[in-house]
Amino acid sequence: MPSLPSQRFDHQTAIVTGAASGIGAAIAERLAAEGATVIIADLKLDAAEAMAKTLPRAIGIAVDVSDEASVAALVEKTVKRTGRLDLLVNNAGIGGPAATVGDYPTDAWRKVIDVNLSGVFYGMHFAIPEMKKTGGGAIVNIASILGSVGIPMSPAYVAAKHGVVGLTKSAALEHASDKIRVNSIGPGFIHTPLLDQTLDAATQDHLAGLHAMKRMGTPEEVAALAAFLLSDEASFVTGSYHLADGGYTAQ
Ligand code: NAP
Repeated sequence: MPSLPSQRFDHQTAIVTGAASGIGAAIAERLAAEGATVIIADLKLDAAEAMAKTLPRAIGIAVDVSDEASVAALVEKTVKRTGRLDLLVNNAGIGGPAATVGDYPTDAWRKVIDVNLSGVFYGMHFAIPEMKKTGGGAIVNIASILGSVGIPMSPAYVAAKHGVVGLTKSAALEHASDKIRVNSIGPGFIHTPLLDQTLDAATQDHLAGLHAMKRMGTPEEVAALAAFLLSDEASFVTGSYHLADGGYTAQ
């Protein structure tokens, strides 16, 4: 890890959803290394607790971000255990099947929208009132390059990620006066378990070649941007969509 400006998140509590794996795990590591108490919020409690054990001050809590009551309980437990909530990273997400709009299974459509879009809404909906109590906060929503461009065979994912970018703008406008900044990140293809579970090696090589830099990104490269956006160094940055895509969408 590069040398860090300071302990930017000392005395702050951060929730990172989907933090037991991939991009979420790298963000949790980065925030913990910079002083935050990090809530590792993930679907499976054992995976969340195992990840939390690897970090200072971290706490594992089970959550299903597609379940409103589960997200409400996550925020309640966070505040009960740490006394505050300053930072939220809505990162948990799923890929969904590969199919055209005409063939896409409607139950899979609902599942992808529930996790990837409604999950982001629930996270902000329950976190923002707690952030207001301590005078503000910062939120990062993990969208995708597919939040601004399309790709065939992933209509639910593309729709959900475009929705995340729009929802981010709405929340930023509504809560600027509460001193809560809200931004989204559009990663290009990042080498994580999500990709390994859904794409074979030949497809991964093809996708890597679509980036101007001719490679996939790393979770740590996304985490560095997330940490910047969550920090006071980004004090005039809100409502915007930030790419970490190796030039994918510049072409
Ligand atoms: P990942 O390695 O699969 O990690 C996602 C984590 O979220 C897993 O621990 C997963 O648990 C958890 N999760 C899944 N559904 C959940 C739910 N309903 N509630 C709570 N946790 C849940 O994925 P990743 O590649 O790091 O992706 C993280 C985020 O980045 C996603 O929003 C994804 O869309 C976005 N993104 C990824 C890429 C990429 O190329 N990897 C590119 C752009 C954007 P289980 O393992 O138990 O399912």
